[in-house]
Amino acid sequence: MENNDVIILGAGASGLYCAMTAAKRGLKVVVLDHGAKAARKVRVSGGGKCNFTNLNVTHADYICRNPHFVKSALARLSPWDVITLLAEDSITYQEREHGQLFTEQGAGKVAGSLMTRCTRAGVDFRMGCEIKSVSGTGPFTVTTGDDIVTADKLVIALGGPSWPQVGATDLGFRLAKQFGLKMVAPRPGLVPLIFPKQLQSFCQDMAGNALPATVEAEGVQFTDPLLFTHKGISGPATLQASSYWRTGRPVIIDFLPGQSIEDFVEDNRGSNAQFRNLLGHILPKRLPGLLLSGALGETAVSQLSAKQIEAASNRIHRFTVVPASTEGYAKAEGCVGGIDTDEISSKTMECKNVPGLSVIGEAMDVTGHLGGFNLHWAFASGAACGSHL
Ligand SMILES: Cc1cc2nc3c(=O)[nH]c(=O)nc-3n(C[C@H](O)[C@H](O)[C@H](O)COP(=O)(O)OP(=O)(O)OC[C@H]3O[C@@H](n4cnc5c(N)ncnc54)[C@H](O)[C@@H]3O)c2cc1C
Repeated sequence: MENNDVIILGAGASGLYCAMTAAKRGLKVVVLDHGAKAARKVRVSGGGKCNFTNLNVTHADYICRNPHFVKSALARLSPWDVITLLAEDSITYQEREHGQLFTEQGAGKVAGSLMTRCTRAGVDFRMGCEIKSVSGTGPFTVTTGDDIVTADKLVIALGGPSWPQVGATDLGFRLAKQFGLKMVAPRPGLVPLIFPKQLQSFCQDMAGNALPATVEAEGVQFTDPLLFTHKGISGPATLQASSYWRTGRPVIIDFLPGQSIEDFVEDNRGSNAQFRNLLGHILPKRLPGLLLSGALGETAVSQLSAKQIEAASNRIHRFTVVPASTEGYAKAEGCVGGIDTDEISSKTMECKNVPGLSVIGEAMDVTGHLGGFNLHWAFASGAACGSHL
């Protein structure tokens, strides 16, 4: 039995930021994690390049039942704070579209930088450690395979269940239930969508093709690249929309965003080429034939009737499909829902009804859009918590 000021459960992005901030203030911090290595999700993030923040971050980049919840923490940790911190360890960045910042040195460097800062500040890491039980309401006691650890404060930084292949579990949610915290039903977010059976051969034919598209779910639209998979669709536009998609509801795809089929036909009215062949110049070759089957695709552009043009426009600009499902947590880069933010102080991340217990990062009902927002939230919530513990 040993005593500490703070136990942080989870050595991921939020846990490390929180540990570093709290230990720098002189607190005795112990971090428990079942992985052999810390920050495994960070290490695979951004395709190994870690999209660690976004220059344009605002509360509008997050899905949360309380859209104002993230404002306070975001106001206290800006993208420039993160850039400056990483720059101190010679980690530089590349700016990509929409203000996304990726490291030039790789995601492992970000994980290494946070770990080194924690270690320097005196954080005690217990890696490869099974969390068997958590009890108490301050002081809190955590029983692991090897130890019994106690502290006045406990931080749940256990992430969500997306990407179990890097150690993600739902332990954070189970602990929330144990402490009587309300949940917003969790589901996979930032995840590829699977098309229904009747569109499976369409997907097989298109698999591997990518194009710019607008994907809309529940009235929210994203224009970005779309990638066809063997089962359905993926790529940034799909992943973004997937976080809004609800089972049984349609997704609407515009395969020619910013262009108009009507104008295209008008501009090519003199052409006797088959409609689908001509469309093959502005869409992936096979797509027009699959979207415009039979006479519609085979008609010469010069012969198209107004009704046919309208039908084509609907197929190309408003292709409507009810996905069968998502590819699930195994392929999800996020989790929508989680511990209800009503339970948590937006300033300190402490639970309103369980003094001493705090929740940070992905475990709570805050999900960022694609683009560095989720890591920024992990850092911002970790910083807010670490400076108030
Ligand atoms: C493939 C992929 C790529 C991504 N790329 C980006 C990106 O480029 N930019 C971006 O902003 N976001 C990205 N994300 C999302 C981002 O990584 C997460 O939002 C962020 O890591 C969440 O931080 P966290 O601290 O809440 O959770 P995590 O970083 O997941 O940390 C949770 C920690 O808890 C530990 N843990 C879990 N269960 C247990 C248990 N039962 N016992 C003990 N320990 C446990 C885990 O081992 C882990 O170390 C990506 C996610 C994935 C899956």
